[in-house]
Amino acid sequence: MNTADTTGSSPAPKSAVTQATDLSSAEQKIAALMARQDVILKALDATTDAIYLVDRASMTIVYVNDAACRLHTMTREQLIAAGPAGALSMPAADIEKILDGIIASGVPPDPVEIMRPRKDGQIGCYELRRHPVRAGGRWLIVSLVRDITQAKQAQTRIIHLNRVYAMQSGINAVIVRARTSQELFDQACRIAGQEGGFPMTLIAMLDGTTAKLVAVASFGMPDDVLAGLTQRFAASHAHSSGRQPGQTMAEHAIRGKKAVLNNDLAADPSAIYAKRHLKAGIRAVAMLPLIVGEEAVGVLALYSTEVNFFRDEELDLLLNLTRDIAFAVDHIGQRDRLAYLACYDVLTGLANQTLFLDRVTQYLHSATNAGHRLVVYLVDVERFKNINDSLGQDAGDALLRQIGQWITHTVGDSNLVARVGADQFAIVRPVVRDTDDLQALLEGQIENFSSHPFRLNDGVYRISIKAGAAIFPADGATADALFKNAEAALKKAKVRDERYLFYTNSMTSHVPGKITLESELRQALDNNQFVLHYQPKINLESGRVTSAEALLRWNQPNSGLIAPGHFIPVLEETGLIHDVGRWALRQALRDYLSSRAANLNAVRIAVNVSQLQLRQRGFVEEISRVLRSDSAAASALEIEITESVFMADVKHSIASLQAIRDLGVTVAIDDFGTGFSSLSYLAKLPLDTLKVDRSFVVDMVSGPQGLAMVATIVNLAHALKLKVVAEGVETEEQARLLRLLGCDEMQGFLISKALPHEEFETRYLSRLSNN
Ligand code: C2E
Ligand code: CA
Ligand code: CA
Repeated sequence: MNTADTTGSSPAPKSAVTQATDLSSAEQKIAALMARQDVILKALDATTDAIYLVDRASMTIVYVNDAACRLHTMTREQLIAAGPAGALSMPAADIEKILDGIIASGVPPDPVEIMRPRKDGQIGCYELRRHPVRAGGRWLIVSLVRDITQAKQAQTRIIHLNRVYAMQSGINAVIVRARTSQELFDQACRIAGQEGGFPMTLIAMLDGTTAKLVAVASFGMPDDVLAGLTQRFAASHAHSSGRQPGQTMAEHAIRGKKAVLNNDLAADPSAIYAKRHLKAGIRAVAMLPLIVGEEAVGVLALYSTEVNFFRDEELDLLLNLTRDIAFAVDHIGQRDRLAYLACYDVLTGLANQTLFLDRVTQYLHSATNAGHRLVVYLVDVERFKNINDSLGQDAGDALLRQIGQWITHTVGDSNLVARVGADQFAIVRPVVRDTDDLQALLEGQIENFSSHPFRLNDGVYRISIKAGAAIFPADGATADALFKNAEAALKKAKVRDERYLFYTNSMTSHVPGKITLESELRQALDNNQFVLHYQPKINLESGRVTSAEALLRWNQPNSGLIAPGHFIPVLEETGLIHDVGRWALRQALRDYLSSRAANLNAVRIAVNVSQLQLRQRGFVEEISRVLRSDSAAASALEIEITESVFMADVKHSIASLQAIRDLGVTVAIDDFGTGFSSLSYLAKLPLDTLKVDRSFVVDMVSGPQGLAMVATIVNLAHALKLKVVAEGVETEEQARLLRLLGCDEMQGFLISKALPHEEFETRYLSRLSNN
């Protein structure tokens, strides 16, 4: 150690004070001086810095304090006897040179840091300061040594922690941005490497089907190490219970769902790859499990160049981080599932109408560029309802799946097929040559189809279909137009009982029946033939009625009450929806206020709003006008809007909805799951409530997939802070499962169908006490 600076050439004095008599007169002077400084010496012994006084001329230690003795674990006498060279285990000549340098400069040199093994075997870190002092005509060097081991350690810890913090914030930013799991994994590994200062990082995920770990992303890992690990993973089972020899730390972490650390690879050469890692400078490894729900789904591996890098504090931060990553993995998974839902038909696995139209649009680009034709077919399964009713829904589902398979097989490419309605399929042929005889082709296929034996419930059934077709460019320039025209052709084929029809212009012109309906509906509004019925929504926990949905009915003088499904499309087509919609809003409010006036505990009323209304400029102003009639009116109203509506004009939708909410009216997204909103849209929309479509509630009891779907929607909605209402609940079993999944509210025939306002009041609204 470079600490005290003397060479013990003269006979070793026992102590600077007691030995003073043996020394020359000059030395005696110094000793006498110091003896008189008794008080000062006591003070020096009290300091924690080690202090040495060396006389340059004689190269003897003339004084050491208690701290110096402690540092060397020697008595004062031993230390003085050892002299500078002995105390420092350093050649005397080297020490002399250093001291002469200091004396020559006349000023204290900068402090230096030195490392030295301590009694406990740990490396200590010290700061050494030296001061040249002229006293009694001689040069003395005062050396002060301070133990800074702890301060140093704290400093390194801070550096470590800062690295981990930097890594955490980087990865958290990725978690928010990442669109796919792969992006998340890649970025997390990179940031852990670059910000966290880990020379190697790795993420391995469990393959659900093989139960084996698969390395999905890494950073800084040499190819051969990665290949070796991949092989190891492939050879063993992370999930097998009982400790297995040669099980990797990663597998161990997954199995135990706990962090597995090796803070000193050199001390545990049994660790897999320890030797190789040590050679590469790796000294410590941490395997941090990624846990989703109760399951470990993967592991984040961090390799450090520092022994003992992973201590409690670092580990806590890193475990937080892995929780965030795991959450994101789960979240992205749900988003993937929703994205799937948005584009595919769950029953057949085929594209839905949205995706189909997207694809047709793509094909239209190439058809336009290449100048060839394209055809869209729409196919309807005949008497499907009969089959469903007589053989049961399972058989109906099975039939639809088989039909989907048959069509896909015949067409040869599932990308060209979609299920677009309960019993309707669409097909696109992207390239039609002028020489193709479409009619003969279609005829042949319909023939083949009707002779194909479909097996259902041990029976064999022959099914017939009808088809409509529209050809690009003659029958439409857009996917939408072609689809609509194929639809029109199909309708006509049904009416005329033809097996198929190609579109002709006359098919879409107005049908007389519609005109009468339109004029009847106009009169209905004037003659007060519309009524609102109310269906209660109840809280799944408390069973209390929380609100009610207003559902429109038409009290037609001859036919009686007509359900909205029969006339809302016509109201929308003719623009009458604006007047009728305005009437519904006002009527709902009137009914609410009349309940209040009757001293009843009125509940919020949800009014369905058509997309046309929402899109109309001035709609927000209209609501605000309606609300002006009463100060309590805003809290009386919720509006329900079908999800597909928002997609058409997202920006405008967001602005309108926000303005509506600013009025105090709440907003629900209706029929969720039937349209094509993606999570990113949902997250952007200013909403309060999400209504899970009835079809999901029905599917929920039919198997784990259906249940998982509702669970996903509920979780997702809650993550977005939305209240979740299940629609169309008809059985206790459905209610029980919904309660289990944490759904907030439900409505459906299990509670009540929609009732006339008075009946709703008497059955569901309690009387307010009179105070
Ligand atoms: P929606 O908004 O999804 O309304 C729920 C529909 O499900 C209602 O049919 C309701 O009677 C029915 N329903 C409720 N519980 C059950 C159940 O347990 N099982 C089954 N199978 N059905 C149940 P409704 O009254 O025929 O209304 C049909 C659609 O008409 C509504 O669907 C809504 O989109 C539209 N609609 C109703 N009133 C209005 C309105 O005032 N304005 C606008 N624009 N549309 C409306
Ligand atoms: Ca509704
Ligand atoms: Ca609905």
